[in-house]
Amino acid sequence: MSGATAPKGAVAFYFLKYKIKSVKYSEKMIFQVLWGLMKQSKLFTKTRKDAPADEVSKNAELLIRGGFVNKEMAGVYSYLPLGLRVMNKISNVIREEMDAIGGQEVKMTVLQDSDVWQKSGRWSDEVVDNWFKTKLKNDTEIGLGFTHEEPLTALLKNHISSYKDLPVYPYQIQAKFRNETRAKSGVMRGREFLMKDMYSFSRNEAEHLAFYERVQNAYKKIYTRLGVGHLTYMTFASGGTFSKYSHEFQTITGAGEDLIYVDEETGIAVNQEVLNDEVLKDLNLSREKLVEHKAVEVGNIFTLGTKFSEPLQLNFKDEEGKEQKVFMGSYGLGPSRIMGTIVEVLSDDKGIIWPKEVSPFHVHLISLNENEKANELYETLKKAGIEVLFDDREANAGEKFADSDLIGIPVRVVVSKRSLEEGGYEMKSRTEEKGKILQEEGLLKELKDYVFQTL
Ligand code: ATP
Ligand code: MG
Repeated sequence: MSGATAPKGAVAFYFLKYKIKSVKYSEKMIFQVLWGLMKQSKLFTKTRKDAPADEVSKNAELLIRGGFVNKEMAGVYSYLPLGLRVMNKISNVIREEMDAIGGQEVKMTVLQDSDVWQKSGRWSDEVVDNWFKTKLKNDTEIGLGFTHEEPLTALLKNHISSYKDLPVYPYQIQAKFRNETRAKSGVMRGREFLMKDMYSFSRNEAEHLAFYERVQNAYKKIYTRLGVGHLTYMTFASGGTFSKYSHEFQTITGAGEDLIYVDEETGIAVNQEVLNDEVLKDLNLSREKLVEHKAVEVGNIFTLGTKFSEPLQLNFKDEEGKEQKVFMGSYGLGPSRIMGTIVEVLSDDKGIIWPKEVSPFHVHLISLNENEKANELYETLKKAGIEVLFDDREANAGEKFADSDLIGIPVRVVVSKRSLEEGGYEMKSRTEEKGKILQEEGLLKELKDYVFQTL
């Protein structure tokens, strides 16, 4: 069966790709055409006026009210259709930038065998205070992964033996579990949350450092694409045995739990944890010029050296045939925390304002008792590969606009008796008070320019 259908599918895909390339659209468009549509009357989630009384964080409050997430318990959130679309878009931006620097995606297991963690000394609850542990039927204790240095290092023993096998950069985007003491920051501090964790395995420190710098640049691109680049600083933070500093990426927000000090002239930032005279001298900073900000750690990159390759014996033979330890780094980044951060820093009193790259849809099409005309436009936008949330519900204008502001899609198109009388459709950005009337052709051109300009 599969033998007969596979080639057919492959040919069809090739043909589609070929056709679309011939009109200068990328493969991404195929993806969009296939997944970018939703009628709001069919969407099972409803918006709500109030968040649960026990929800104290702004990000969770808005995400719950907009129907993006559901709170299961403190620090534990389910992702609903709109929220999952945002999360997948965030993850895809990260995935693209990790692939661009040579990353290879994997998916490790959540369930952890204690053996490898015992070898590194991180199984003990005295060393790691936020383990979730559970037991098999036969009473064997196992853990739920809070990070994956140990199992990945152990796994790579099966694949690395020579200098020819290095460097490699596996990464995953996967649920992590941490028994956080305080979980009052909504999706910014989950007990179950999504993390992108990449690990680098290099021959030596020089090779490691060259890659470390590439990751720094990739991270900067990621935060810019996710709409928080202007508020995010690469920040000197505490290092380990193999490097004096690690680098955190900190986004300035009152909702953050960290304090950072920024030299606005040079853009150099330091975490309060490591701020002392020696560090100031190291970085050539003067204390008077530093500005204090509350911030949230949205990423952290770390030189690990042989901290894990040594106890887990991940070695390779160098060019002279001598046994060496692999030199490692780790690179964390939290899609769920970033989603919360975007909401914290890019919202107003009416609701969320999603940046284009992560908005659940490109356009919110709203019909005010003009479903027939709006449906025609919906079909046209669909053919153009634009992702549309179509509010075809029976509801009044006030309700529809309030929901639209809360959900926060950056572009809104309204089809109403008035817009049709004025000659077309009203297009308005989420942050503007007043929109403009455009005829179909003009509207389509503006939307296409907007949607596809950076693809
Ligand atoms: P924090 O100091 O805020 O607890 P951390 O330093 O323990 O964070 P890392 O181990 O460096 O976090 O994890 C890598 C990334 O994963 C973080 O930079 C952050 O983006 C994300 N992250 C960590 N903990 C959480 C959490 N509880 N909820 C959501 N995201 C998280
Ligand atoms: Mg960290």
